Parts: sequence; structure tokens; C-alpha cells
Amino acid sequence: MLWKGRRQSDNVEDDRSDSGGGLGGGSPGQFRIPIGGRAGGGGSIFLVILVVLAGWYFGFDPSTILGGGDGGGGLITDNSGGGQDSGAGTPANDEMKQFVATVLAETEDTWTGIFKSQGLTYEDPKLVLFSGQVRSACGFASAAAGPFYCPGDRKVYLDMTFFQQLDQQFGASGEFARAYVIAHEIGHHVQNLTGIMSKFNQMRQSMGEVEANQMSVRIELQADCFAGVWAHYTDQKGILEQGDIESALNAAKQIGDDTLQKKAQGYVVPESFNHGTSQQRQTWLARGYKSGKLSDCNTLSGPI
Ligand SMILES: [Zn+2]
Repeated sequence: MLWKGRRQSDNVEDDRSDSGGGLGGGSPGQFRIPIGGRAGGGGSIFLVILVVLAGWYFGFDPSTILGGGDGGGGLITDNSGGGQDSGAGTPANDEMKQFVATVLAETEDTWTGIFKSQGLTYEDPKLVLFSGQVRSACGFASAAAGPFYCPGDRKVYLDMTFFQQLDQQFGASGEFARAYVIAHEIGHHVQNLTGIMSKFNQMRQSMGEVEANQMSVRIELQADCFAGVWAHYTDQKGILEQGDIESALNAAKQIGDDTLQKKAQGYVVPESFNHGTSQQRQTWLARGYKSGKLSDCNTLSGPI
């Protein structure tokens, strides 16, 4: 990705020096990205999706949430497993931070344009860089939990050592694999702004675990599709390089639930999937990328 020299977002908060480092060795298993739900904006560019999902759209309660911690409050967590040593002592303005700030700026520009075209206003999220562990409106999280988006404070949380983990542990190398991870989290922000996430969190209160997992997969695949939509517009700017899309698709493959479970335990338990299989994740990322249309990201009904 030809990102150098492009605009960097001001919405990066660098909290790396605040946290204790070195939470190692998370449990292997799911790729876990907390999402939960405070109500987002009102109007919806996903009207089509929401009409299909009419049942979802009514009567959500913006006040629910995430008072803290995993329990009960609608926080879904997905764990990428295995933490690495945190990158304590990383210089405040290192190149990776600049990369993250640039990708974030690209998502801001793209989603601002998409929302505007629908007569809506995109509100930029913050992206918090942390090291080891962090406190968010969604509770306390360690780097082992992987990057996550917290709807309660509208922030993406990222310990950049996850990128090394992607590369070394998951076999997903490349800059654009990293950009995809960020874009996926931003996809959750879009879901938050459009009210999809809060509806989901409300619904899952009354769901059994298997059903909630199935719904989680749909939400996650939509975030992948939104990441693809972002990649589509980024490609149109002429800043993608050969192999970029492939590296994002490979990342989607490597963090598929079935692939992660096979690696971690040698077998898969489909009922426990909460992000989608490798094939599903690749399919939806590719679908968003191909058309750039949100209407192609309806993962919430029909076959996935
Ligand atoms: Zn996610």
C-alpha cells in the first residue's frame, strides 16, 4: 500500500506508555473482538438490510450496555489467542503508528464520503494504541484479546504487537493484512453508527449461546464486507499495490474460526464459531471489495 506521505488521522490516541506490558499467553481459540452496543446514529444507510431484518429494527434500547466486563452487558469478545510480549518502549512516532494513522485517515475519508452520499454524517471514531492491557468503556482488556471496537466509547483498541502475531503466528503477513484488521474494526463502528450493533446486542440478551454465536458470525462477516468496501475505494485511489488484496484475503483465511480451531486443538466445533469460517470471511471481504456496495453486505439474512 502506497501510504507514505498521505494524510494521517488526528484520531489516534497513544496510550502505550500508560499500560502494563507483557500479558502473554492467552488461550488459543477464537479471534475475539468485542463488540457491544450503544445505539448509534439514527438514519440508516442500511435501510435495505434493516427492512429485510424488520424484526431487528424496532425498539432497541440505546441505554443498554456494557457497563464493564464481559458478562451480560452485550460484550462479545473474541480472542485471537496467544498473546505476545507487548511492545513496551516503542517510540511514540514510529513508522507503524504512522501507518495506522494513515489507514485510519483513509477509512475516515471513505466512510465520510459513503455516508454523505446517503445524506448522513459519519462520525470519526478514535483509535487507541495500547500496550499490554487497557481499560475501555467495555471493560478491561488485555492484548491477548486482540484488537477490538467498543461501541460504548466509539473507540477501536489496538495493541500493535497483534500485527506481529498476525505475521508470525497466523501466517498473515503484509501491510494490507494489517489494514484489513483496522478496516474490520472500523466496520464495527459503521455498524454502531447505523444502529445494527445495538440491535444485535439487544437481541443476543435473549439468545442461547449457539444462536448468539450464529448471529455473531453474521455481524462479523458484515464487518469483513465493510472492510472490503473500504478496500474497493482505496484501490480506486490507486494506492494499492500488487499483492495487497491477496494479503488481506489471506489474513481473512488465517483468522477464520475453523482454521484457528484446527490449529489450536486439531478439530473444529462449528457451534462455537463466532466470526465465520475462513471461506466465509474471504468471501465477504471479496464481495465488498468487488462492488464497493453496501447493499452487497447484507450478511444479516439469507445464506452466508
Ligand atoms: Zn469483528
